[in-house]
Amino acid sequence: MQVFGLLGNPVGHSLSPPMHEAAYDHLGLEARYVTFEPAPDDLERAIDGAAALGVSGCNVTIPFKRDVLAFVEPDPLAQRIGAVNTVDFGESPPTGHNTDAVGAVRALGRHDVTLERASAVVVGAGGAGRAIAFGLADAGATVTICNRTASKAETLAEAVPGATGGGLGRLPVALSSADLLVNATSVGMEADQSPVPPEALHADLTVMDAVYTPLETRLLRDAAKRGATTVDGAWMLLYQGVAALERWTGESAPVEAMNEALRQGLSSPVAGSGE
Ligand code: NAP
Repeated sequence: MQVFGLLGNPVGHSLSPPMHEAAYDHLGLEARYVTFEPAPDDLERAIDGAAALGVSGCNVTIPFKRDVLAFVEPDPLAQRIGAVNTVDFGESPPTGHNTDAVGAVRALGRHDVTLERASAVVVGAGGAGRAIAFGLADAGATVTICNRTASKAETLAEAVPGATGGGLGRLPVALSSADLLVNATSVGMEADQSPVPPEALHADLTVMDAVYTPLETRLLRDAAKRGATTVDGAWMLLYQGVAALERWTGESAPVEAMNEALRQGLSSPVAGSGE
């Protein structure tokens, strides 16, 4: 029996267990996916303990995504992003990876969005914003990062190839010629709000939201009204899980089975939002 898990605090009603276990059932793997909630200052012991107990792999979420870098061997992308969301215990020391970046890219690919030479705007410069900005730039897009705290966007833009960054005030101009907009802020989760003025949206845009609770955010509703193509946050969540599963098992992930389990979990009134 293999054990995989999610390391976070709080992990709440995570959607990863049903999504991953649907894949194990489909692949005939004897495996379980469980949630671990160590105290915030117990991360090193949690990683060492998981390795000693033979845990095969862990996803990592708030508040550990940055701190875990110190206790694993990060791959070059995770190092550049400055965050790990997937630990592989198959090697010693365990290795750290960031599948949020490829999750965003594969979610957009699933919707036939071409990133090579696309003009992309990322709103947000936290953990998700960093991963998405690197993912889009590495896939060939020119990225503009806009964040409430402008200095964070400017600092991130210096690290992301070809990117520029600034405050939210840059959004209307940046969006006027953009092909793609990704919301990587948490705005839209707690309240029915959008970080983007609706009049800045247009029909030539694809708009993806990283927020997945609710699935239909204010931003996506505004975008649909303006004729834009919309991609909800569950697609990115799905594909970061797909990439983690493929790394851990070496198997091709049963994407549709995982998507079905995820969407079913999201329709539950207690669906979590931690990944
Ligand atoms: P984070 O590191 O805490 O960053 C939060 C971001 O939101 C920062 O850029 C912050 O701006 C911005 N922000 C917060 N409140 C704001 C407001 N009222 N107005 C404007 N900007 C605001 O969080 P994170 O880990 O990046 O997560 C962000 C969202 O992405 C969450 O909803 C999370 O659930 C989601 N997410 C989804 C996936 C997925 O697979 N779909 C994966 C990862 C994360 P400042 O820098 O100015 O504070």
